[in-house]
Amino acid sequence: MQLRYNYRAYPDASQCRALASAFGCARVVWNDCLRDRKEAHAAGLPYVKSAELSRLRITQAKRTAERAWLADVSAVVLQQSLRDLDTAYKNFFDSLKGKRQGRKTGPPRYKSKKDTRQSIRLNTNAFSLQDDGTVYVAKVGNLKVKWSRRLPAAPTSLTVTKDSSGRYFLSFVVDTEPDILPGVEADAGIDLGLSAFAVLSDGSKIDSPRFLRRAEKKLKRLQRELSRKAKGSKNRAKARIKVARQHARVADRRRDWHHKVSTQIIRDNQAVYVEDLAVSGLGRTRLAKSVHDAGWSAFVGMLEYKAVKHGRTFAKVDRAFPSSQVCSACGFRDGPKPLHVREWTCGKCGTVHDRDHNASRNVLVEGHRIVAAGRAETLNASWSAGKTRAKVPAQRVETGSPRKGQTTQAGIPGLQAREHVNDSGRTGAGHSGVT
Ligand SMILES: [Zn+2]
Repeated sequence: MQLRYNYRAYPDASQCRALASAFGCARVVWNDCLRDRKEAHAAGLPYVKSAELSRLRITQAKRTAERAWLADVSAVVLQQSLRDLDTAYKNFFDSLKGKRQGRKTGPPRYKSKKDTRQSIRLNTNAFSLQDDGTVYVAKVGNLKVKWSRRLPAAPTSLTVTKDSSGRYFLSFVVDTEPDILPGVEADAGIDLGLSAFAVLSDGSKIDSPRFLRRAEKKLKRLQRELSRKAKGSKNRAKARIKVARQHARVADRRRDWHHKVSTQIIRDNQAVYVEDLAVSGLGRTRLAKSVHDAGWSAFVGMLEYKAVKHGRTFAKVDRAFPSSQVCSACGFRDGPKPLHVREWTCGKCGTVHDRDHNASRNVLVEGHRIVAAGRAETLNASWSAGKTRAKVPAQRVETGSPRKGQTTQAGIPGLQAREHVNDSGRTGAGHSGVT
């Protein structure tokens, strides 16, 4: 399986300039190629092949006066940009044909200089890890990196990003072997709570920690202050930077905490079932906001990849399944319950239910049923049978040191003695490459 490892990088001034032009060139190639395909499509012409675009928009473009500067950056960056565009198209076509699960994917869009997140992608021809702990990036130089955690194996690709608050990150994709944990007895159904962050079928509740709630509160306050500043004023610009910084801080802390919680749940349980909230489907409801705030989809993603990695069973329970209406004791369907109803008594068997606890127990029962029927998306069986499933996205990985004796050091020079724990620098979204 592929995992993503993220580290903060500290380019010097000239490296920042080199990276800025690499971001720009990658964007121009993307936009040029996208335009060609869009125009061909509008004119009723066939889809323009990558080989043709590569020749026209990279190789030949470098020889023209208006695109000559493409030659200043690594050719790998330009080729990867085109490849990312191909992936974006493939995802779009697969989504149209119904081959892709989850949210519908739109057609690729033009990139703007003003995008908050800029990135380039490199393969091993254009980057390498140096003995002195720096990372060499072609035409940029040796970047200083904070190695918050050891890479378990030689990386196969590298994405360099700059986020909206001006921080640089290196994100390595590493192929890793699953790390199967010893079996345990317990199973867990999880209800994505509104009052608590999550409620487990064993009755335990997980609340957001106080430091996180405080940070979120501060973010809201800064956002309010920003909205009161006059448009175009210097104070507004300052307030915007403050908001961006706090935003990054909240995202980092929330992700760290999600990692801790998801690791614990996967360790403690042989099978984990969650309600598929299909966050996009909740888009317009009041529930949606709290779900987004709680970062639930990122958390569920972590549970999923950790389940795969550690040989646990994981399944999402259909959101059409009425987890809050059915009595988990007798199976009686007691009818819809408005959100403010936190506790109710079953009309048939008289059991008094805590809304969220009851829901999580139903999720557990439904999860068992799905797995028994062989309909689960992720089953450990498919992994032990050696089928590689490309569906599990490369995920950012938690901070802190890896478990002793579980990592290999294949081909990573200079990293053995360079392990620091509890770094807090990572980027925002958890996707790979361009989506
Ligand atoms: Zn009942």
